[in-house]
Amino acid sequence: MEKGLISIDRWAKGSEAYFLTHLHSDHIHGLTSTWSHGPLFCSSVTAKLLPFKLPDFNLSLLHILHTGASLTLTLSSTVIHVTVIDACHCPGSIMLLFRGDFGCFLHTGDFRWEATCQRATNARHMLDHALQNLPVVDIVYLDNTYSNPIYDFPPRHVAAQKVIDIISSHPDHEVIIGINTLGKEDLLIEISRALQIKIWVWPERLRTMHLLGYPDIFTTNTSLTRVRAVPQHNLSIRTLEAFNTMHPTIGILPSGLPWIKKSLQKNEFLSGSFLTSSRCTRGKWSANSEAEIGAQIGNIGSPDKIHEYMYTVPYSDHSNYEEIEEFIKLVQPTRLKGIVAYSSCCIEPMYYFGRLCCVDQQTQQLYEEKKREERCKREREEAVSSKASYAGDNVQTDRDRSKALKGRFSGVRLTRFSRLRKTHRGAKLRGDNSSDEE
Ligand SMILES: [Zn+2]
Repeated sequence: MEKGLISIDRWAKGSEAYFLTHLHSDHIHGLTSTWSHGPLFCSSVTAKLLPFKLPDFNLSLLHILHTGASLTLTLSSTVIHVTVIDACHCPGSIMLLFRGDFGCFLHTGDFRWEATCQRATNARHMLDHALQNLPVVDIVYLDNTYSNPIYDFPPRHVAAQKVIDIISSHPDHEVIIGINTLGKEDLLIEISRALQIKIWVWPERLRTMHLLGYPDIFTTNTSLTRVRAVPQHNLSIRTLEAFNTMHPTIGILPSGLPWIKKSLQKNEFLSGSFLTSSRCTRGKWSANSEAEIGAQIGNIGSPDKIHEYMYTVPYSDHSNYEEIEEFIKLVQPTRLKGIVAYSSCCIEPMYYFGRLCCVDQQTQQLYEEKKREERCKREREEAVSSKASYAGDNVQTDRDRSKALKGRFSGVRLTRFSRLRKTHRGAKLRGDNSSDEE
């Protein structure tokens, strides 16, 4: 294979420069303490946290990208211009706009594009400004985690208030909140400020909080607070039942992914059986102003109490469907490619958003044909799944299942083979290949 140019969230050998959008584990798969394939570009916050995640990493490989700034990178055979935009996902997360003689593409990383979030508003202005100097964005590599219209959860500050309300309504309970190793800091800070209470976190998380500059809010002393944030995988009905034998305890899972998804069966993700929750009603959170959002808060109803001791609240660091749609309307790319390979909620983004892209007529026809094929395939799947069989046309083949087990891919690698050639205002892919992303 011909040597590559750049890789984004991919860490195999063969590229001249590497870019890291943020430090979540599904984006650093393959990046180890001994990795040394080339220069690594990331935000200053990511650079600060990375040695904690990967001890002994060669820090001389790191190059800092500043949000809102542009960088010109001279590679062996071409020059690449990079613009860095805040992704509003977790601390240090960025999206990257690349342009060069290969064309222009935008990698969102994971992102949350809230209308009422000041950071997202600033990011929108930055991106809008950067786009003004471009004829077209050829490809958007999109965080398609919730690129399905069934996902219509509220802005984070609304969901945060619901978490606060749950805690306030249980004054005599211990409260356990499930979080990951990075992200949801703003939620914990809002809880702390609203209830004037410290938040317990585990020791490694406390170190992360200190690195992020939050030394006074968090503690590892359980006697100082009744609210604890624990690793999400440690929060379960079983552990809550065990805690309740000693002291009244509730659990709260903040996530855009409804707990109900756990009960989905094979092939159900595209059927109507999942569309029963009123929370998923399309357009519910499409309001653009604080006033409209405020008017809708009363409509959210009770948070989902999925068990005697467990609540879920739709607090998400990923964009909902409506926000993704607004983002694509702003960028108006020629093509979209999802960076999430599996999930019952995500879907090939061109399926829903292709209508917003600047595609030529022939490309549009190809997508229409693809959509027709997918519809027929789904109908066959539904017919076969009702027989609980894997024979015949059932799409859930061994290969598919093993792909699902591999989980997400988030990386993109641009090679010389994949360069785009601009012929006019639009851009066309060469016939030899497209990019080799997985
Ligand atoms: Zn992430």
